[in-house]
Amino acid sequence: MNKRQYSYSRLDLYDRCPHAYKTVYLDGIPRARHKARERGQILHGMVADYLNRLITLGLATDWDWARTAAPEGAIADVAEIWGRFYEGFVLPSGLEAPGVERRLAFDRIWRPVKFDSKRARFRMVLDFHFRQNGLGVIVDWKSSREVPQDVAKDLQLRTYAWGLKQALYQDIQEVLLRLHFLRYGKEREVLLMPQDLADVSDELDARINVIEKDKTFDPVPGSFCGMCGVTSHCPVMAQSLVPVEVAAPASREQAQKAASLLLTLQKMEKELASRLKEWVKGNGPIQVGDLVYGPKQSVSYDFDPKLVITALLETGLSREEVWSLLSLNKTNLERGLGKLNRKDLINLALSLGNVKTLEKIEFHKAKDTV
Ligand code: SF4
Repeated sequence: MNKRQYSYSRLDLYDRCPHAYKTVYLDGIPRARHKARERGQILHGMVADYLNRLITLGLATDWDWARTAAPEGAIADVAEIWGRFYEGFVLPSGLEAPGVERRLAFDRIWRPVKFDSKRARFRMVLDFHFRQNGLGVIVDWKSSREVPQDVAKDLQLRTYAWGLKQALYQDIQEVLLRLHFLRYGKEREVLLMPQDLADVSDELDARINVIEKDKTFDPVPGSFCGMCGVTSHCPVMAQSLVPVEVAAPASREQAQKAASLLLTLQKMEKELASRLKEWVKGNGPIQVGDLVYGPKQSVSYDFDPKLVITALLETGLSREEVWSLLSLNKTNLERGLGKLNRKDLINLALSLGNVKTLEKIEFHKAKDTV
């Protein structure tokens, strides 16, 4: 694998764990299968085929085709997410210069080159792009479970916008980035101005320089370990407890060893956790990469059903409406009042509960430390 090939996802993998980056991109070891990644790839392919079809045939929708598009044996929720997408998606008419899964590449001094050019150093793929009234628009399909309230102008989004302008629509000033969350049919947008794109190539150069100067590619264990896909090639994991042949068994004998080790670990886990909790109580939290093992607080409410029901009836809600809120807990109350379009009553309802603060010692992201 050529050491000098980059993309945003490669820079991102290096950021999360240099050793994982080296294993995958310099040593050429393929990542183990990961459901979320596979789901994303399948959905991106389906959406791209659908868009190409709509654009070529000049259609706004094609449900007959879309109904048959989900591949047989696809991961469980692919068909469900796909259905939600095509039933809510209408291709706008009159798109200027649209492109689907457009592959872009740039050389060492950031000049656009062919995607398969030997001079290509940095590559990117734009999910869907078009022009609209002098504006460049990029639609990025997301299959993740989280939908942020606001979209940050992070380097990844600025890189896509910069690439669009640099390689395809040189005359545009602004780029609208639209994130389409396939799972929920929701969209978030952010408008990138010329000043947001001015330093993108310098920032990418700086990130690439760090990688090229790295001689050790040290592993950084943390919350990403479950997703890196190269755990069985990781020295930290190998040194911890599990020999490589047990972590990734290839024969029945190794699988047998893996099963007995798993059983031992499950039995040890309780014991280990209880001793570690005692230690943490006396000596404070322990940091492991970007995770902290230590106390985390959560709040729960104890409701007196009679009190809450009386108070809600007094606000004018009908008995049937209040009835639907029973099983009283905070989540049900919030959801139920939301469905009734009475979010204004949430604070009143919560004020009637006894607040209990619970503290659990567990792993959580370092930023959540209390
Ligand atoms: S298991 Fe963790 S530390 Fe090891 S390569 Fe993967 S991400 Fe890095």
